[in-house]
Order: sequence, then structure tokens, then C-alpha cells
Amino acid sequence: VVVSREASGQRSETVRRANLSTIVRELHLRGPLSRSELVGSTGLTRGAIRGLIGELAADGLVREERSAPIGTPGRPSPLVRPRPERAAVLGLDIAVDSIGAALVGFGGHVIDHVRVDRARGHLRAERIAADLARLALPLIERNDARASLIGVGVAMVGVVRLSDGLVRLAPNLGWQDVPLGELLAGRLNLGLPVTVANEADLGALAEHRRGAAVGVDDLIYLSGEVGVGGGVIVDGQPLTGAAGYAGEVGHMPVNPVGASCRCGSIGCWETEAGERALLRRAGRSGSSDRAAVDAVLAQAEGGVPKALAALRETGTWLGIGLAGLVNLFNPSLVVLGGVFGRMAPFVAGEVEAVLDQRALRGPRDVVRVIPTRLGADATLIGAAESAFEPFLVDPAAWLSPRARPLRLASA
Ligand SMILES: [Zn+2]
Repeated sequence: VVVSREASGQRSETVRRANLSTIVRELHLRGPLSRSELVGSTGLTRGAIRGLIGELAADGLVREERSAPIGTPGRPSPLVRPRPERAAVLGLDIAVDSIGAALVGFGGHVIDHVRVDRARGHLRAERIAADLARLALPLIERNDARASLIGVGVAMVGVVRLSDGLVRLAPNLGWQDVPLGELLAGRLNLGLPVTVANEADLGALAEHRRGAAVGVDDLIYLSGEVGVGGGVIVDGQPLTGAAGYAGEVGHMPVNPVGASCRCGSIGCWETEAGERALLRRAGRSGSSDRAAVDAVLAQAEGGVPKALAALRETGTWLGIGLAGLVNLFNPSLVVLGGVFGRMAPFVAGEVEAVLDQRALRGPRDVVRVIPTRLGADATLIGAAESAFEPFLVDPAAWLSPRARPLRLASA
């Protein structure tokens, strides 16, 4: 078999791009690493690492620093440090009662971020897109980040079609079939791709990469707010379903004689385990905002029996849905985000007890339920991580021509 020179050239180019991707991903997820550590974690040769780091350094994406001698013999291996100011993304978050924006640099450094509360209730998508642009554009300007921006990621409380960022349904905002990706791309006018995904899916991604679930390949992130969202990671990969709609755990039917849900069904999990259910049980049916939830949590802190009982009953329903998820997905970790993270100290006993009663022994034995580590910003960080993904997959596409290795015209 004769392999043409052209074909083998293409193949080595493919290998080079794949190797660059491996190195860039390592640096993004783990931060500064020595060349020796990169050799160890990527399996590439010292020579290959040296060459590829040289390309990244020539383009300013990394800086090499002499690492401090650590008392061991031998030449210290230079430390390769990602430069967050050289490649950055904009993460945006649309929650039911707030919007947020963050600038995150290569390596995961949060350069700047801002979140503002907004009143709950239905708002037109155009209005929220305009508000987000008003929040994000000054953030970009004051950090002089325009030139280094490589993408925009958006976290959204709703059912989102991944291919184009169409929000099929956001019951708690009153949206149906809103082309959010398109709207935001127009409002921001940055000339960058805008990817939109469900907030709980992005919370899962964030906890997996930067939070409570680093190194854990099978996990469920639950986000509690007005609704209940879920993000599932199986074998290290996000579970998206055919179009990106998977993980709508809040609409699992759990109570056939339950309350009607905003999705049009009856007795969905979020009607029993969500914020409204908690407030109803705490005797605050009319109110539905964060201040009311804060008040119940503060009462529980102070030992008020009614608040504690409301939390315990909500915890029982949380456990019932979780038992089903644990049986289905066999996660080793369940991360409680949003209001569930704050409820965790008061509901952990009920959740564990219900799992003991209702989940199968096998999956029950291996699962731990813990609160979020990233808190309210998990979804924002996930949005930023999703915007980094095309860059991590093929960083060579972002390198300027001067960073490319020299090639002879007719080798
Ligand atoms: Zn529902």
C-alpha cells in the first residue's frame, strides 16, 4: 500500500490537532502544570509536549515559568500556565428571579461576574435578552475583553433544543418556542456563537468540572427553584437525549392525586418537592419568592416546629423522586443545587431514610447525596464551560497562523 505524501501530511495534522486539544483541555481543567505533569497525564512524549507548548506560547495562550526548586535533584520542569486574559468566554444565566453574567478565562479563572435580582413573573424574552446585554456588555468593556472573547454560553430555566438554542418551554417564565440563541446573538452583536442549554444540565457540568463532583463520572445534579431541574452525567458524558431535552426530572409524575403542574400535568415531582410545595406546607401559600423561602429557612434555623415540619415533608418527597433516579441511573453522587443546597441540612435525614426504604440495595449502597459546592453560580460557571467546549475540542482553529510550526513548501 502506498500512502501519498499528502494523505500522511493530513494524518499528522489531525494528530497534531488532537494532541493540542488534549493539552489545552488538561490545562483548562487542572490549571498550571509542569511539562513533566503533562507528559504524565497525556501520555505524549516530552518532545511532542515541548513542540505543542511552544505553539501555544507563541500565540500567547500559555506562559512558561521556571518552577521553584522543590529540593529534589534534577532540573526543575517549567510550569505551563494558561493565560485567562488571552481566551475568555461570556457565561449568562437566566433564572426565575435573577439574571447573571460572568467572564471566565482559559484555565477556569472567573475574571469578573455580576448578578442582579429581578421580580418573579412572566417577562417577554426580548426584554430579558435586552437586560442581559445591558449586564454583559459593560462587563466586557470594563475588563477590556472584547478581543479575547471566543464564545457565549447561556443557562436557561427551561426545555432547550441544543441544536439552535430554541427554548421549547419555560413554564415558570411563560415562554414557548422562543429563539433565545438568535435573540441574544442579535442583542449582544459580538459576532460569536451563542449556545443555550438547560440550567441544571449546566450545573451538572460545572460541578463535574469545578465543584463537588470533580473526578466523579456518574452523577446527578438537582436544581431546586420554583421548578425542579436535573442534569445527569453518565460515564463522564452529559445525558442529553435525542434533542437535548433529557433530564426534565421535575415533571416525573410522582403523585397521581397531586396538584396540577404548570406543564399541564398533575402531581409532577416539582409540585411536591419544589419551592411552592415547601411554602404551602409552611403556611405561606400566597407568597412565592426567595424572601419567603429565606424566611422559612431562618425559622427552621431558629427551631420553629412548623418550618421544620414543612422542610421534613418536602425532604420526604425529595427522597421519593430521588429513589427513582438512583434506581434508574446508579449515580455515585447526587449534588443538591439551588434551594435544595440550602435546604440540605434540614432534609438530609428524610432523604437518606427514604432512599433506605425505597431505593434498591445495590444502587443505594454506592450513592452519596451532598450539597452543591459552587452554590448559586453553578449554572453560570456551567454556561461558561459549555462556551469553552469548541475551543477545547479544536484549539488549533483559534491559533493565529504565526503560532503554527514552520513547514517547508515542498517537503
Ligand atoms: Zn409538570
